[in-house]
Amino acid sequence: MLVLDGKIAAAAVKESLKLKTAQLAAEGKRKPHLAAILVGNNGASETYVASKVKNCEETGFESTLIRLSENIDEAALLSTIHSLNNDPAIDGILVQLPLPKQISEQKVIEAIDPSKDVDGFHPINVGKLVQGLSTFIPATPYGIMLMLEHFNVQTKGKHAIVIGRSNIVGRPISILLSSNVKEGNCTVTVCHSHTPNLKELCLQGDIIVAALGRPGFVTAEMVKPGAVIIDVGITRVEDPTAKKGFRIKGDVAYEEVAAKASAITPVPGGVGLMTIAGLLKNTMQAYEQRVNRS
Ligand code: NAP
Repeated sequence: MLVLDGKIAAAAVKESLKLKTAQLAAEGKRKPHLAAILVGNNGASETYVASKVKNCEETGFESTLIRLSENIDEAALLSTIHSLNNDPAIDGILVQLPLPKQISEQKVIEAIDPSKDVDGFHPINVGKLVQGLSTFIPATPYGIMLMLEHFNVQTKGKHAIVIGRSNIVGRPISILLSSNVKEGNCTVTVCHSHTPNLKELCLQGDIIVAALGRPGFVTAEMVKPGAVIIDVGITRVEDPTAKKGFRIKGDVAYEEVAAKASAITPVPGGVGLMTIAGLLKNTMQAYEQRVNRS
């Protein structure tokens, strides 16, 4: 059984980006620059944004973290985005989700200049993804594809079961896995909360992508021997014995499923790290497109 270790695959992506950035510096060029907006102080969002900023620094990118109050109104957030859209020094913009209730996430997503939309959530970029055109692939599905590539996981002709159909993970990974690309060419079944025969479908899966946010949902009895398991789930589960008072759990019952699988991503240390790798790759892509246009 192969552990699809996100530390190893993400380090390889980061190393190649670091070399590219060092080369830019040697040529006297500016570095890629990511601006991250964090609204409020949700604990998980704070952790994710801090990690994104830290990874930018480690890769040699510039990063700017803009912290806004939980009570900020929508117009003020949109105005901040417009300033970043018009700032020639900024290559990529991300707004950490979720946002407070008074703000429409859809309006925020659509306010970001598609050429700086390194999260790949803008409808223009989603449309390009669906049509197989060059675009920013949302960071988590992109990270999964980079993981499959790194470990040379064969996907062509396989049956992939994707559990979850969100715009952030389930929907885009189902499109990518079914696309005519090297880590694609799967036959894909997309499952959601109205899928009645989930266990039977999962048992047919050569690849299972679990992205539903229910800790330990995928158990050994749902998995075909030799299947490849991609666990996207990240849920904080209370645990008074843990230093922080909680542990991070994936959507897969790791131990029992690992005993049956041919390959599996751990949580933590799997897809989460690859998400950051995907974001960094998108930021470099945004930078290169900007530099080539000017
Ligand atoms: P989401 O928007 O809540 O979507 C969850 C999806 O799972 C929905 O499509 C839902 O179906 C489906 N679902 C829920 N319960 C189900 C059940 N019992 N059976 C079948 N399908 C079910 O969540 P998300 O944003 O996609 O995130 C999913 C998980 O991935 C979360 O744990 C999240 O924290 C994690 N995540 C991790 C990363 C990473 O970097 N590793 C990045 C993003 C998200 P309906 O559509 O019918 O409601």
